[in-house]
Amino acid sequence: MLLKINDEPTFFVDAMLGNIAKKLRLLGYDSKYYSNIDDEKLIDDAKKENRIIISKDEELIKKAQKLGIRSIYVTKIEEIDQFLEIITSVNLKIQINGNTARCPKCNSLTESIDKDSIKEKIPQGVFNSNDIFWKCKCCDHLYWEGTHIKNLQEFVGKVNERL
Ligand SMILES: [Zn+2]
Repeated sequence: MLLKINDEPTFFVDAMLGNIAKKLRLLGYDSKYYSNIDDEKLIDDAKKENRIIISKDEELIKKAQKLGIRSIYVTKIEEIDQFLEIITSVNLKIQINGNTARCPKCNSLTESIDKDSIKEKIPQGVFNSNDIFWKCKCCDHLYWEGTHIKNLQEFVGKVNERL
């Protein structure tokens, strides 16, 4: 029997929606995204991995639905509107937590990292004005509260106002 680790939905985000993929990752949702992938491969992977497809491409959505794959058809243009379409169709919780955030670049988990150990790798100003840092477990990219979390907070605030 397969053990289900958690009930959080996972996603496969279509090439046209890179910013949405990044935000979902920062919010902790496992979201596959490639800037260039063909429909068949995307559908195939989503099916195998039980991912919800998020796309602006009506043809792709139709194909997915025929195969019984859950999908979200994004019709709006503004990012906030698009996000609202997604949240309302899967009842997504949006909570910002740096410790569960995924790397927006590669979708891997991140871990908090001791500030002093990365002193040489970040700009002095960033070092001085932030205390909490994370490192991607896969691509080693560094993140900190200032830019990454605060921009997201603002976005999530706007989304919540509209819910
Ligand atoms: Zn990464």
